[in-house]
Amino acid sequence: MSVNFLIQKAKEIQVVIDSNASEIEKLDQEIGDGDHIFNVQRGIKLVIELEPTIKDLPISKALNQIAMKVLSGIGGSSGALFGTLFMTMAKGTNIDEGIDFKKAVEIFAQGVEAVKQRGKADVGEKTMMDVLIPVANCLKKGLEENKDKREILSEAIDVAESGMLSTKDLLATKGRASFLGERAKGHIDPGARSSQLMIKTVCESVIQK
Ligand code: ADP
Ligand code: MG
Repeated sequence: MSVNFLIQKAKEIQVVIDSNASEIEKLDQEIGDGDHIFNVQRGIKLVIELEPTIKDLPISKALNQIAMKVLSGIGGSSGALFGTLFMTMAKGTNIDEGIDFKKAVEIFAQGVEAVKQRGKADVGEKTMMDVLIPVANCLKKGLEENKDKREILSEAIDVAESGMLSTKDLLATKGRASFLGERAKGHIDPGARSSQLMIKTVCESVIQK
């Protein structure tokens, strides 16, 4: 994983998020305040615009700049949560010496754990954690079982999708949707959908490489 990899993935994610924008917007209009797609699109744009500033930096510094940009530039829960993800990844041990697949999984999983603590939400609360936590666990388990990288990534795509779909029938206990009680049922969580699309994009892109 290099700085160039991060920027290229952000560009690929931008295309996918833009083409699903109206669906994501509608999801947050149904159970939130409608701004999730705006927050996500702004975050992606800010990261891509950082390219000239971060392209020659060590990965730890680049990730840190991405974190700062996301934290300061995006509103809503997403800004704080995704900022925490990148901030934690930036602190990964010895990452400037190179990030192979194993290391990438390790720092992603540490990032997800930090997001979990920041937002105090676990699996089953109808948030993006219903995608992020199972994906992190699936990646770690695949490595422990010495599975092939492509196999692990393709399992992660499936796990992200089932996690996203599982939010539909859940009651929300964290975030704005929790104010809706039973009325949140029957709607997929917008943060779960945007996270699932991002994970799918990155995993597919690495599988095809
Ligand atoms: P806001 O809820 O502040 O308007 P966004 O609309 O950008 O922010 O993001 C909403 C998404 O954030 C939700 O769909 C949910 O997935 C996620 N979310 C909200 N609260 C939490 C939390 N405490 N932990 C994890 N994710 C959360
Ligand atoms: Mg919102």
